[in-house]
Amino acid sequence: MVQSPPIDNLTISQKTEFDRDRFDQSVMPTYGRFPIAIERGEGCRLWDTEGKEYLDFVAGIATCTLGHAHPALIAAVSEQIKKLHHVSNLYYIPEQGQLAEWLVNNSCMDKVFFCNSGAEANEAAIKLVRKYAHTVLDKVEQPIILTAKASFHGRTLATVTATGQEKYQKGFTPLPTGFAYVPYNDITAVENAIADLDEGTLSRVVGIMIEPLQGEGGVRPGDLEYFLKLRKICDENNILLVFDEVQVGVGRSGKLWGYEKLGVEPDILTSAKGLAGGIPIGAMLCKDSCAAFEPGNHASTFGGNPFVCASALAVLQTIETEGILHNVQARGEQLRVRLRAIAKKYPSLFTEVRGWGLINGIELRADIDLTSINLVKAAMEEGLLLAPAGTKVLRFVPPLIVSTAEVDEAVNILERAIAKVA
Ligand SMILES: *Cc1c(COP(=O)(O)O)cnc(C)c1O
Repeated sequence: MVQSPPIDNLTISQKTEFDRDRFDQSVMPTYGRFPIAIERGEGCRLWDTEGKEYLDFVAGIATCTLGHAHPALIAAVSEQIKKLHHVSNLYYIPEQGQLAEWLVNNSCMDKVFFCNSGAEANEAAIKLVRKYAHTVLDKVEQPIILTAKASFHGRTLATVTATGQEKYQKGFTPLPTGFAYVPYNDITAVENAIADLDEGTLSRVVGIMIEPLQGEGGVRPGDLEYFLKLRKICDENNILLVFDEVQVGVGRSGKLWGYEKLGVEPDILTSAKGLAGGIPIGAMLCKDSCAAFEPGNHASTFGGNPFVCASALAVLQTIETEGILHNVQARGEQLRVRLRAIAKKYPSLFTEVRGWGLINGIELRADIDLTSINLVKAAMEEGLLLAPAGTKVLRFVPPLIVSTAEVDEAVNILERAIAKVA
């Protein structure tokens, strides 16, 4: 049993009143929530309102990069909120410049646009691709963006249309036009789609938006060979390659960016989730060669404000100075080795283990009733938080600071949960 860490200046009640019925009376029921309410966190641990402790292998869905209550993040937000938190982009914001410079210096990109979420970052990328197509590329009238089936790009109308999963689009027609879908990791499908959709300057494929590793779609890493060919096809056909790194970016893959795992550079890259360690932020990065936005083309009131930029800088500098990428690689390997042993022990339940760094998944057999949700619930009862990635994949996305002992503890808890449901 790991001891609860010391807390300064904070009185912790073992049991806080929380009324779910009252919550549901006024909060829009858009989420299927698990029946616990989290009250406090420290490192990779969370405590609910009943005082129960959990090991957190969800990290706010791959977002709390430095875990909970990290001293570097506490210091950055405390100092910045006292100094200045928001002024709008009517003025120059020094922290925004510093963050953009850090991102440019630590990626293959040249320019950064800031917003507040992954969907918004992808929305900006979609607009940039269209603007580029209309103004630079042969003035294409009806530009098309190819995306992958089983992808996830967000919930706004454009990004839910980009998302290659009908379940997210159902009930929201009419959807924006200008998107087409291909199976992931299938290069022939891309070649065929580009040929089939080519109507010259009237309409053609001008962008391919894709995740280096599909997160929500089941923790599915991209094939190196596929991505190399994708880059070649984009170069030969004047197509912009957009990588949605909202989930896999900012160190989660074991590299700072997912594209480094593939050895292929995109033209545009989007980031959000882990970028400010849980403070809401989104960013769209691009190369100078396709930076087609002009003043007035795109904007966000909150985008890149002093508060979020100082938070993101603290997260990125901590990743840099504390050798966190090395931890991600080592802990990821440790986790996969142990998950593979579980998959081998229970061949009637699991098919395979997949992932990079600290984004990993174990897939359940399609021919059994057990779902990822069943296992998430069983693990939760034992004190481990996990997230489903679709109905058949159990996802492990702990804070990037997770320790050797915590990885072992998580797998031990998971083994107990599996033994109960098996
Ligand atoms: C979570 C996610 C998004 C959407 O991000 P939001 O911040 O929820 O809008 C987009 N793309 C990918 C790959 C994601 O994982």
